[in-house]
Amino acid sequence: MKRALLILAIVLVVAAIAFFGFAPGYVDRDMNPVGKPPPYEASEVARDFHQSLFVADLHDDLLLWKRDPLKRYDRGHTDVPRLVEGNVGLQVFSAVTKSPWGQNYELTEDGSDSVTLLAVGQAWPVRTWTSQKERALYQAEKLHAAAERSAGMLVVLRTRADLEQFLAQRETEPDLLAGLLAIEGLHALDREIDNLDVLYEAGYRMMAPTHLFDNELGGSNTGVERGGLTAFGRRVVRRMEELGIIVDLAHASDQVVEDVLDGATRPVVVSHTGVQATCETKRNLNDHLLRRIAENGGVIGVGFWDTVLCGDSPADIARAMRHTVAVAGIDHVGLGSDFDGTVRVPFDATGLAQLTEALLKEGFTEMEIRQIMGENVLRLLRATLPAG
Ligand SMILES: [Zn+2]
Repeated sequence: MKRALLILAIVLVVAAIAFFGFAPGYVDRDMNPVGKPPPYEASEVARDFHQSLFVADLHDDLLLWKRDPLKRYDRGHTDVPRLVEGNVGLQVFSAVTKSPWGQNYELTEDGSDSVTLLAVGQAWPVRTWTSQKERALYQAEKLHAAAERSAGMLVVLRTRADLEQFLAQRETEPDLLAGLLAIEGLHALDREIDNLDVLYEAGYRMMAPTHLFDNELGGSNTGVERGGLTAFGRRVVRRMEELGIIVDLAHASDQVVEDVLDGATRPVVVSHTGVQATCETKRNLNDHLLRRIAENGGVIGVGFWDTVLCGDSPADIARAMRHTVAVAGIDHVGLGSDFDGTVRVPFDATGLAQLTEALLKEGFTEMEIRQIMGENVLRLLRATLPAG
């Protein structure tokens, strides 16, 4: 009997080591694939021009995965070394706090949650197992801890003053990366508006009211009802603007986009999206909304992944950007990779020169490419971050 218990104990320990030690890596590799592995070829002209750009990307889910942001991996799409190699100057890191099983772009119901399994399987603190606010706080802690260990290589921006200081320093030290914290889905408030201030204190400066499903703030573009902002949602958005938190309308239902824009006093972003004109899916923006976001002064981050592009090449990204520029204007288009967001993208962060090359081939001028690759996002951050 004793012997049987001992064997059972050994089996459980081995299973636990396998689950906590190896499974997260397999899941990560499986869920964040690339079209082709590195190295990524690009012409010398494109490569040189790419190195002269300030590159800013509006959406990356790296913090969800069991990876040290400072270490280089051969799985997933990003880490600080690969972002620096791809000449990214500013990366928005977004926290995911709930994701239903079987999520899809037609109809995703609230209810089940795969992030609980990730939190347990990756051995996140117990406080994160039942609270979405704690999951967001934990992901912010991960980024802050990495910045502290990075000897100044990674800087987390909280204010406009931080941004200006970072840009001045990067003039002479091109291997620096700025991170900005974001959240997709304000179910992360655990239904308490006061938690907005808690998340702001933790460094969050960009937030999307909804993610894949309708929540207590309003409808998702892949949800069931796809309604507008609720009374709670209106209060939260108003408080976000007071604090200097950028409203992100990625994943929002069309009606939530309209409702936020009707009352907006600051420019918004759509951090990662495609456009209906080049890929018809409910997840993507139609031309009417593209125009409204441009009127608001906002920036639309065009995604890199197959299901919003209806394609899987850098040329497909450039094609979606061409349409967005045609409808919204050159001042309102940026990058919204969705790196590490359980999507397939053509390249990891080290391959971004391929996008610059695709934009040159698409016929954009160098000035236009500078704007798309980062300058428009800088303008928006200067207009929206708290002064500090
Ligand atoms: Zn997303």
